Amino acid sequence: MAGLTGSMETLVAELVKLPGIGPRTAERLAFYVLQSPKDYVQALAHALVHVKETIRFCQVCNNLADEARCTICRDPRRDAEVLCVVEHPRDIVAVEKAGGFRGVYHVLLGALSPLDGIGPKDLKIAGLLERVKHGHYREVIVATDTDTEGETTALYVAQQLKPLKVTLTRVAQGLPMGGHVEYADQATLARAFEGRRAL
Ligand SMILES: [Zn+2]
Repeated sequence: MAGLTGSMETLVAELVKLPGIGPRTAERLAFYVLQSPKDYVQALAHALVHVKETIRFCQVCNNLADEARCTICRDPRRDAEVLCVVEHPRDIVAVEKAGGFRGVYHVLLGALSPLDGIGPKDLKIAGLLERVKHGHYREVIVATDTDTEGETTALYVAQQLKPLKVTLTRVAQGLPMGGHVEYADQATLARAFEGRRAL
């Protein structure tokens, strides 16, 4: 970043914090912003701040929402008796793109990771148990990632849900071991849902 003025250096320093953005890409983006019309830069800055100010977590499922409940929880056409448990809101985007699933979701907002000090209390597991206890679900599909954290989380969730006598399944078939739901291609993810097994 040698040779950059103070404000450009600040912009590059902020951009490089974004996932997947290295110093060279950050510099290229900073120059792109510098050369762009002011209208565009203002719209970009506004969009960045606006998303932070307006987006919140759905009261029911912890998906991203712009109202108290997310668009999926508000949709009367969804099958409210089939619940799919995922780690992150971005996993919902992937499952929705794959198509085929018409139920509702519960987002844990992470995965168990004892090495990183992330335990059950750091995730939205208590809320899941409450939902299942008080709701009517024909099936709970656990669609956490197939890496160590995702598998640990799936086992824990299964243990907790077992006494509630709900049909529990796990997506697996087709998803590579260690795979992330959000990166799975649509066909693979669709197959993983079709080939889910009892937990
Ligand atoms: Zn929701």
